Amino acid sequence: MKIVRTLIALLCFTAALCCAAQDAAYPANYARAPRFKALLFYSDTAEPAHVDFASQAIDFFSRLTYGDGWILETTTDLDSYSYESLTNYSVIIAINAAPMTAQGRANFEKYMENGGGWLGFHAAAYNDRNTKWPWLNKFLGCGSFYCNNWPPQCVLVDIEKTDTPVTHNIPASFVAPESEWYQWNPSPRDNADVEILASISPKNYPLGIKDVISFGDFPIVWRNKNYRMVYVNYGHGDREFTDATQNLLTLNAFRYVVSMDPKGDPFKK
Ligand code: ZN
Repeated sequence: MKIVRTLIALLCFTAALCCAAQDAAYPANYARAPRFKALLFYSDTAEPAHVDFASQAIDFFSRLTYGDGWILETTTDLDSYSYESLTNYSVIIAINAAPMTAQGRANFEKYMENGGGWLGFHAAAYNDRNTKWPWLNKFLGCGSFYCNNWPPQCVLVDIEKTDTPVTHNIPASFVAPESEWYQWNPSPRDNADVEILASISPKNYPLGIKDVISFGDFPIVWRNKNYRMVYVNYGHGDREFTDATQNLLTLNAFRYVVSMDPKGDPFKK
């Protein structure tokens, strides 16, 4: 009987240990399947510096798929995607272009108006009087392209809000790699629905060597609170992924847009 009692006690002890192990917090959540899909949209016929950026961006995001934690698809023809097909993607990564056809624009609008995700770089937001797409300005929360520095150069960036998922762990200011920088008119800061996250410090003025910008409000990272989107203005040339701070900002912005998916935060799957 003594042996039986000892065995029962041992079994109870083992079971208790197992329960304790199940209840204990475990620090990692391993993906059992790809968590989400993203569509990277780029033009390979844009100006050479914007095509260079596209190559580097594809490499950057491809490396984030190691281990098949998510699926990255790429296209040079966003206009060919129906609204239904766009809804398969948690985020559209817009590298250097925007939809061009009436149907392509309508599909993209419907996608964004119904909870779609967008991370846009640089020329993906370019628009002027020839663009003839008022919705794009409503979506961006700003006016048209106004002016740019030339040549591309490094700038001191001020983080305007440090307590956001996009700016998490980014220092209050940092020097960004060389880029062409756009000012907008009106500035997105004039829009109450826009949250400005980073801007080019006024300390940079005069900014440029050939084309010199001397003043003006200069936001470069923002989100329009009416949409699941973040826009970052860098994205010109082949040096954009050479800085760990800016890479982290890019990663944060990407992760933030995906995490707000109305179907649920894929990182908690
Ligand atoms: Zn450019």
